[in-house]
Amino acid sequence: MADLKVDLIAPNGRKITLPTGIFINNEFVKGNGGTITSINPTDESEIATVSAASADDVDTAVKAARKAFNDPSWREMSGTDRGAIMFKWADLLDANKETLATLDTWDNGKPYQVALNEDLNEVLSCIRYYAGWADKIQGETIPTTPGKKFAYTLKQPIGVCAQIIPWNYPLAMAAWKLGPALACGNTVVMKPAEQTPLSILFAAQFIKEAGFPPGVINILNGYGKETGHALASHLDIDKVAFTGSTATGKAIMKTASVNMKNITLETGGKSPLLVFDDCDLEQTAKWAHLGIMSNQGQICTATSRVLVQETIMDKFLEEFKEVIKTTSKVGDPFADDTYQGPQVTKQQYERVLSYIEAGKNDGATLATGGVPKKDVGDGKGFFIEPTVFTGVTEDMRVYQEEVFGPFCVVVPFKSEEDAIRMANNTTYGLGSAVFTQDVNRAHRVADRIEAGMVWINSSQDSDVRVPFGGVKQSGIGRELGEAGLAAYSQTKAVHVNIGLKL
Ligand code: ADP
Repeated sequence: MADLKVDLIAPNGRKITLPTGIFINNEFVKGNGGTITSINPTDESEIATVSAASADDVDTAVKAARKAFNDPSWREMSGTDRGAIMFKWADLLDANKETLATLDTWDNGKPYQVALNEDLNEVLSCIRYYAGWADKIQGETIPTTPGKKFAYTLKQPIGVCAQIIPWNYPLAMAAWKLGPALACGNTVVMKPAEQTPLSILFAAQFIKEAGFPPGVINILNGYGKETGHALASHLDIDKVAFTGSTATGKAIMKTASVNMKNITLETGGKSPLLVFDDCDLEQTAKWAHLGIMSNQGQICTATSRVLVQETIMDKFLEEFKEVIKTTSKVGDPFADDTYQGPQVTKQQYERVLSYIEAGKNDGATLATGGVPKKDVGDGKGFFIEPTVFTGVTEDMRVYQEEVFGPFCVVVPFKSEEDAIRMANNTTYGLGSAVFTQDVNRAHRVADRIEAGMVWINSSQDSDVRVPFGGVKQSGIGRELGEAGLAAYSQTKAVHVNIGLKL
């Protein structure tokens, strides 16, 4: 740790030299907020120890970001040049994507093929998509009194943005937030999750080489209550963007009110997946499986409440359990045939197990799973069998609360009206899915579900060009797509008098 680098050999044999400091002003420096030791969730061994940022470090980073925001080298840079720097950074990350995917798999436990082919693709396409936007952000002219007055609008950056991200998609969540912020000309202080601090440090190495001026992107690992809180409460930060749990989102919203920060929140979910009796049963079962069991169930939009028309409940359940049996291979995330790796931390593993107990205690029936998987490696690690409960009522905790694991409930409904009411019976409103061959019903239901996203005959579709976000207690604001730019720009109106005399 002395020279702020550590040499590592990953479980897949890859040699990695990892920076271990915090990244401010295009340099790695030692953090003063103690250290974070990252644990491999597959075998509970220590991977690496990196610096954490103190409140003073946050202040230093905010000063750097403010200086960069006001510096002509960034403020007066054309959108085209800004985009070019972003494209260059994406190319540098692309050239190192196997190492970045290795770090995410090692640290987070997600299958390597997923980290490489899904997460890293998303990272690159997101940064490139917003790089393309950087020179297409523009206002409009508004004719008011022809010949005498008009107005125009400028789309301007918000300023210094704090970005606090979670551990379930460590690099992809960073890209979702950095892409639009940089395209719009903001500067950033980002705090990754303490559970997955590694891959972003490797990515940060290429920021200077890509051509970002010092202070434009600052990356500070650290703990939520210290580093995260110092960001949310800082008086010289203009915006805080957060992805994580609803409880933490509420705390950040409250803290951020200290100087009325602009906020974007993407929080929890208990997303429904509606299965109507006219669906393609085989496809529905496969999508329902992907919707809750992919990424170890650690997806805020996971379709964790599967609502099935009662006439096909038995057939669906049989098909669904068959897909789980044949697809959900739980094991070493570096093995090519693994579908599900370990939960990210002991705490998350215990959380899922506690919901299994809650389901049983409340009288629900275990249809499959419900136990840790102990026959992987030497018996260590945070593996859990894919778990499905039936016999669930709407008042049960397993119906209402977000579990964030390979865990779903399958519950029957009678009619379309019934399905919509049950789908909306939650404090959340993030994702939702509808399976039917009836095109009218598909759109009717899509219109009435209280959610930020509806998937018709699929689940977890995510595309950088399409807005993403929640309603109710699933969040405020939108990320991705053109809508994502709105979160990082503000509209200034300029009134021009060209001839009106008093
Ligand atoms: P989880 O419960 O899944 O670990 P959290 O919502 O607590 O998720 O964490 C998401 C992100 O928010 C992490 O980067 C975490 O460090 C940060 N965080 C946690 N608590 C706070 C807080 N009080 N203020 C600011 N950030 C926080």
